[in-house]
Amino acid sequence: MSDGRCVGEGILKVDNFINHQMDPQLMEAMAEELARRFAAERPTKILTVEASGIAPAIMVGCRMQLPVVFAKKNKPSTMEGMLTTKVFSFTKNRDYDICVSGDYLRAGERVLFIDDFLANGNAAMGVLELIHKAGAECVGMGFLIEKGFQTGGNILREQGLHVESLAIVESLSDGKIVLR
Ligand code: 5GP
Repeated sequence: MSDGRCVGEGILKVDNFINHQMDPQLMEAMAEELARRFAAERPTKILTVEASGIAPAIMVGCRMQLPVVFAKKNKPSTMEGMLTTKVFSFTKNRDYDICVSGDYLRAGERVLFIDDFLANGNAAMGVLELIHKAGAECVGMGFLIEKGFQTGGNILREQGLHVESLAIVESLSDGKIVLR
């Protein structure tokens, strides 16, 4: 509430503790809580998307003692056996490709997706597609901040996915942050 800033249409800037400067103690506490909420799902791997998902994902991986894989936003020419899909970026207002090597996402894996924000769920849906292409299973999706006034939360929960968000923003109207 004190450090978040509203910018533009429905975008919350949290650059002084998550997205630019990072608060490791808070990140650790958030990871501990996500690990607690997903322990019963018995994930075997954490998956995120570069770049802003990496910090929370690696903290959760550390806590749960699991490997962490981040989907890349540009297909590296040196990678073979890539799984790829298109994602619409809410903050940049354009499509981009995300990809992950089939070496690090395999059939039978129980994948926990971790990201900083859930907005319309485009990143999450792209990741779900990668998980399904690999023949793996998504056992949960954990977010630091969900914007409850956007559609992603409902779309994912209606699919029966186990979704957890540590903070849910009810509205950002008139530059005022209201938490649910
Ligand atoms: P979605 O794919 O759910 O529409 O948007 C989620 C992605 O967009 C997140 O990975 C996050 O990086 C970015 N994003 C969406 N909304 C916000 C926001 O309000 N603030 C910040 N900092 N990032 C956001």
